[in-house]
Amino acid sequence: MEGQKSRAVCGNCKDVVNTTFLTRTYPLEESGIEVPGVLVAVCDICDEIVAVPHQSTTRLRDARVRRKDLSIEARIPTHLEDVIHLIADEFSAPVQEFRPGLLRFYLREVAESAEFATRVKALAQSELAQAPARARVSLRTPAALLSSAREQAHRAGIATAAELMRGILLAAKEDVLDGGEPERTLRLGGAAQAEGAERPRPAVRLRRTRKASGD
Ligand SMILES: [Zn+2]
Repeated sequence: MEGQKSRAVCGNCKDVVNTTFLTRTYPLEESGIEVPGVLVAVCDICDEIVAVPHQSTTRLRDARVRRKDLSIEARIPTHLEDVIHLIADEFSAPVQEFRPGLLRFYLREVAESAEFATRVKALAQSELAQAPARARVSLRTPAALLSSAREQAHRAGIATAAELMRGILLAAKEDVLDGGEPERTLRLGGAAQAEGAERPRPAVRLRRTRKASGD
């Protein structure tokens, strides 16, 4: 409890000192993240944090594993920006909320499949990807996802974020708008729902093919 008194060794005073439990912002040395509102034992003499009580360790552990987001930005042709709007419309999802979910979904597909990454590379080189890049996409995404997607993309020969984004959006166009990948489209619909689409509405040509199993 805050205000509770105890005794501990203070590294600063180099002595056993009286301590008081106080709520402080606790800096995690390894990551530089500052965790606010952590109950700690503070030295009554020099005011340094001398101990972290057991009840605060969970909070610190959660802060240590908290994912760090990174951004990816790329310039893309306007007609690929349109693809995002058309797909959002396909799922009856507000585009500003759907856009990051769509891009993260496809980054995950790249990260998880060398075959898909190769397809993205081929699409990024296609004529459709080559128009002047007048639009811009930017996305915040978990660092771990971005780095595994980039690794896979790199192995497939994709050199830049712009190439990756163009390829991804052309793949999304083929999968969803051209109806080429109903299975992936259904999974994307689930992701859209998670991102706040009220009622994903797969288009008629994407009629569900899942076997009736009672779920
Ligand atoms: Zn001290």
